[in-house]
Amino acid sequence: MPRRPEGGAVKVWIDGAIVDGPDAKIPVTDHGLLYGDGVFEGIRVYGGAVFRLADHLRRLAAGARAIGLEIPGGLPGVEKILRATAIAYAAPDAYIRLLVTRGDGELGVDPTSCTNPRIVCIVDEVRLYPEAKRKSGLDLITSSLRKPNADALDPRIKSLNYLNSVLAKREARLAGADEALLQNAAGRVAETSVANVFVYRHGILRTPPATDGALEGITRDSVLEIASEEGLGVRVESLGRFDLFDADEVFLTGTGARIVPVATLDGQPIGEPGVHPLTDRLSLAFTDYTRCHGSPL
Ligand code: PMP
Repeated sequence: MPRRPEGGAVKVWIDGAIVDGPDAKIPVTDHGLLYGDGVFEGIRVYGGAVFRLADHLRRLAAGARAIGLEIPGGLPGVEKILRATAIAYAAPDAYIRLLVTRGDGELGVDPTSCTNPRIVCIVDEVRLYPEAKRKSGLDLITSSLRKPNADALDPRIKSLNYLNSVLAKREARLAGADEALLQNAAGRVAETSVANVFVYRHGILRTPPATDGALEGITRDSVLEIASEEGLGVRVESLGRFDLFDADEVFLTGTGARIVPVATLDGQPIGEPGVHPLTDRLSLAFTDYTRCHGSPL
């Protein structure tokens, strides 16, 4: 496979071996494919060190426990696989997609025939938004879809079932926007398709709680820590669309997204157009933060 200048050729650990991307195959009987039955993590490698690895593994384990999925080899086994695949990718910066599927089983949602959960580790690069948009800010629409309530599917489980996010993102793209804002059934802001939402106004930075439908993002947690160290007021509290319209700045956080400003919501500019000093400041601070919160490969 050709080696791209930014990173290595895509490497995948599957069924006991590291192979190049096109050679990674999964049986059609895997319940991860059939039913989205499984959990995953998106993790970044910055400068040869895996960012907040222990926290990603902890979240993976919590999700797996919540759906009654045993991780083969436990977390030490997963970590070994992740490190080996990332080393094989041979680039200082990378995006790791780690999956634990229910494994092969009989047709039917009943997972009891799936006795061998499958670990898949994909190492590649990821670009969620065009570089120019990362600077100027994203255009968001409010999705017509709602984030499922925790009693339907707890948002803290990073499950392989991302149809809600896929459809929200599709809706945004069809409308010519970059990203979709999802509210919960009560109309409170939850998050976007794959990122958490932050609202900044008058020195106070706010983000919705997991109980409103937000994933407990690791980037979100990092930003909360950085912001409070910088002396900002930091609050995890319920938000409505009004709070976004009323904000000085709005930005999104995620492993793939990192920290990216929001320019508009439903066509309405947020804050002063083209200016987002706090988002820029936090982005810089986050880059420093990644340098001292990595686990070297
Ligand atoms: N919400 C959703 C639905 C996500 O998929 C992600 C990305 N994993 C996030 C938020 C951000 O979480 P993190 O910062 O841990 O990547």
